[in-house]
Amino acid sequence: MIIRHANTEHAAPAKPSQFTGRAVGDSILPATDGVIINTMTFEPGARTHWHTHEHGQILSVVTGYGLICTAGEAPEALRPGDWVWIPPGERHWHGAGPDTFLTHTAISLGATQWSDEVSAEEYASAPHTVEGESE
Ligand code: MN
Repeated sequence: MIIRHANTEHAAPAKPSQFTGRAVGDSILPATDGVIINTMTFEPGARTHWHTHEHGQILSVVTGYGLICTAGEAPEALRPGDWVWIPPGERHWHGAGPDTFLTHTAISLGATQWSDEVSAEEYASAPHTVEGESE
C-alpha cells in the first residue's frame, strides 16, 4: 500500500499543550501495536515540550535544520539525513532552529509522556543549525 500525501487529509496541527510555536504532523501510521509513524514539520522557533517515550523513538531528518536536546546536555544540531535514537524514558525535546524549518519523520514506540515547555533561555542556548552560518 502506498500512502500519498498530496492533500491535508492526514495532517493535523501540533497541540499547544505539547508544542511551542507552529508545527504540523502528517500521520503515516497511526498507533499499531504501540508504534506511531508521523512526519512533523516545524516552523522556525517551533519545538516540542520536554517529553519521554515509553519504548524510545527514532527520528529521521528529511529536510531543513533543527535541534535535539537530552536533559542535562547541550542541544545538538540536526541536519538532513541524520538519524537519532532516543532511548526509552530519556527526557528530551526536538524542533526547528531559530531561523530554519525542520521536517523529520518520527517513529515513536509506546506511549509519549508530555512534560513542561522548553523555556526561551533553554532554547536560546542552542547552536546555529546551519553549517557555516555565523553570528
Ligand atoms: Mn521525542
